[in-house]
Amino acid sequence: MPRTLITGGAGFIGSHLCEHFLAKGHDVVCVDNLLTGAEENVAHLEKNPKFTFLKKDVTNYLAIDGPVDNILHFASPASPADFERLPIQILKVGSMGTHNALGLAKAKGARFLLASTSEVYGDPEVNPQPESYLGRVNPIGIRGVYDEAKRFAEAMTMAYHRVHSLETRIVRIFNTYGERMRLDDGRALPNFITQALQNEPITVYGDGSQTRSFGHVLDLVDGIDRLLLSRVWEPVNIGNPDEVTLLEVAKEVVFLTGSRSELVFQPLPPGDPKVRRPDISRARDLLGWSPRIPRLEGIKRTIADFEKRLDAKDKGAA
Ligand code: NAD
Ligand code: UDP
Repeated sequence: MPRTLITGGAGFIGSHLCEHFLAKGHDVVCVDNLLTGAEENVAHLEKNPKFTFLKKDVTNYLAIDGPVDNILHFASPASPADFERLPIQILKVGSMGTHNALGLAKAKGARFLLASTSEVYGDPEVNPQPESYLGRVNPIGIRGVYDEAKRFAEAMTMAYHRVHSLETRIVRIFNTYGERMRLDDGRALPNFITQALQNEPITVYGDGSQTRSFGHVLDLVDGIDRLLLSRVWEPVNIGNPDEVTLLEVAKEVVFLTGSRSELVFQPLPPGDPKVRRPDISRARDLLGWSPRIPRLEGIKRTIADFEKRLDAKDKGAA
């Protein structure tokens, strides 16, 4: 059975990947320094003898015993709230962390999959965004630390592919949500759901007319699995093209939670992209992938998970 190493494995998406590849029978090595992740996210996997958790910072030289067949490089803070809080860590993990993970893949002869992002498109002039769109990123803006780190990571991945003939994959992930997102993560859905469940004001930034396209994490995991098994080295967008304004999403969360919360409008963060929607033709044509979980169903599942965790937190505090 393959041995699959997942950097950022104790994070939101990473923990679902650990679960998925263990369920497929892989040996899974989760490498995480717990900067924005939590060991609780993988605690339910720790009794499985095929699972190993290693607390390590991937910006340092990465030594791993034994063979490794796949490396999925997911380590990186990802919430805009972290872009101001952790700018240097983000730049380091996207650059030095990616270099170390690629070096390990080369040493082990492993296949390498990079978690890139729709942020490489910046504040786009075309909507939806195909992979051929080269983007509009402000390198010195607040979001630049993340966008440029991921653009560098893509360039470094392609250099290893071209120079060392490494088997590489690049997934450009659009807004993904779901169970196990941090309660105080700062991104739109965790904020809205936490606020609604506590009957607190729902913070809509700007006038809420900006759009995003939210995909459920299990659809993403399916896309990543297909990409890893494919021979596609070009970047592939994975996301749900069902585009929606933030105002609509805020109202959906209030409706689905039955909350008494009111919407409050706060300033739009600088550089906040006005629109975002994936063109998923490439994923459809080359991977046979398309999303299956409708937004309202995915949000309902996420609400149930947040409710459970908020209850547990309240009980812990009592
Ligand atoms: P997350 O913060 O839950 O997960 C990131 C994980 O990386 C955390 O567990 C964190 O502790 C770990 N990490 C950070 N720096 C590290 C370091 N130097 N060494 C080891 N571990 C480190 O965020 P997420 O939403 O699960 O995102 C995971 C990946 O997917 C990121 O690379 C992110 O850029 C990418 N992505 C996510 C989205 C999304 O909508 N969630 C969209 C596009 C791309
Ligand atoms: N947003 C919002 N209220 C919040 C958090 C975010 O209106 O409490 C908006 C944010 O300005 C952006 C969109 O929701 O337009 C998605 O933000 P998120 O932080 O989820 O990720 P982004 O897509 O900006 O990287």
